[in-house]
Amino acid sequence: MRVIVIGCGLAGVTTAYYLRSLGAEVTVLDRAAAPARETSYANGSMLTPSLTDPWNAPGVLGVLLRSVGREGASLLLRPSALPSLLGWGLRFLASSSRSAFESAYLNNVRLALYSQTAMRDLLQTHSLEFEYAPDGTIKVFADQDAFEQGRRIAHWLKQAQVGHREMDRDALLAFEPALVPAGERLVGGIHYPGDEVGNARLFCEALKAVAEETGVVFRFSEQILDVNRRGRRIEGLVTPRETLTADAYVLAAGAYSWPLGKLFGLRVPVRPVKGYSLTVPVGDDAVGDDVLLPRYAVVDETLHAAVVPLGNGKLRVAGTAEFAGFDLNLTPKRLANLKGLLGQLYPQIPAEETTVDGWCGLRPVTPDGVPLLGPTNRDNLYLNTGHGALGWTQACGSGRAVAQMVMDQATDEDMSAFAPARFR
Ligand SMILES: Cc1cc2nc3c(=O)[nH]c(=O)nc-3n(C[C@H](O)[C@H](O)[C@H](O)COP(=O)(O)OP(=O)(O)OC[C@H]3O[C@@H](n4cnc5c(N)ncnc54)[C@H](O)[C@@H]3O)c2cc1C
Repeated sequence: MRVIVIGCGLAGVTTAYYLRSLGAEVTVLDRAAAPARETSYANGSMLTPSLTDPWNAPGVLGVLLRSVGREGASLLLRPSALPSLLGWGLRFLASSSRSAFESAYLNNVRLALYSQTAMRDLLQTHSLEFEYAPDGTIKVFADQDAFEQGRRIAHWLKQAQVGHREMDRDALLAFEPALVPAGERLVGGIHYPGDEVGNARLFCEALKAVAEETGVVFRFSEQILDVNRRGRRIEGLVTPRETLTADAYVLAAGAYSWPLGKLFGLRVPVRPVKGYSLTVPVGDDAVGDDVLLPRYAVVDETLHAAVVPLGNGKLRVAGTAEFAGFDLNLTPKRLANLKGLLGQLYPQIPAEETTVDGWCGLRPVTPDGVPLLGPTNRDNLYLNTGHGALGWTQACGSGRAVAQMVMDQATDEDMSAFAPARFR
């Protein structure tokens, strides 16, 4: 079986690796010059079964309407994006009922846990360097109501086998002493020991190298210009260099799966939702050796963002969501919001004075907050996209499951909840 995977971010590279391990001849095509040059480049770095709630929680419409024009809003709707959201947006709102939200949430947890298993299997077979740290994450809360709500969610997540430990302020500050300087602001926290951290870009580069050694062909800096189709069958991909043919094709182009899908005659229901990150050097040279640095990834529920220690003396600060179409401009106010979060959580870290790398990426978001995995209504086209804010958390499980589907094998888990056909 010859398969072409379109996209070499987290979704594409994992699919390619698993396809090859099942015996396929695989080619990966990407318009970028290297793996993970789009949304998988500098994301929040967290693998979090604990944080898998879709964004369209009940009440999301009010949140979005109130956000218009407020650069400080964590979930921001830009009016210029409205035309592109019309049909998609109605489905997004329709999926915000309590029952739809909870069912999507649980499906996401299930896929996240399966993905952890897949990644651990992978790491048993290959030694990959990607600043991996399986120490868990901490959710912190600045007011009692938010803490109560966080505790309710943590108890609810137990049904899906996600364990946690609640901590009042004293226990929290003892567990993560780097929070002491901001301790007055916090009322408590919840540690999710099963969560993990790792650098997604390094992971993609390392897995690409492994896949290449096993025979996967990577074609970078090559863009798809057109798609040859005969009825419902895909016959080839036209690039500036040549026309490439295969028995099956996997579209894993992140947010661009939507425009690219049109060339395949497919409406892919993903829309770009922009997010920002900062990478802050915190090695001895940058901040001095007397500054207390965080050990755990911390998610601030009130500010809707996270600060994550990565290897090599770096912190990644990530968060905020913006409906702004395919705009990839770095808005200074949005970056300043993240710097502000860092200052509120860790006032001892002088982010203002250090050189900070700002970045933004487009999350591929589906209307129901659950990814699109598997066959489409084209005979030989499969999707692995639509992971939104969970593309790292769900990468290995999605890649393995889609590879099994392409190879006509039974999937390890029931994947029907992720079938693209649910939107037909
Ligand atoms: C600020 C931020 C923080 C995040 N934090 C987390 C986190 O902590 N945990 C988590 O689980 N997830 C997180 N995410 C989400 C996660 O990063 C994404 O879901 C994931 O990167 C999507 O991967 P992908 O492979 O689908 O898309 P991408 O990484 O965007 O890859 C798509 C690939 O397709 C290629 N492509 C596009 N168009 C074409 C074309 N026409 N021809 C050829 N190739 C093409 C692109 O070049 C790209 O390489 C975050 C996202 C953002 C923005």
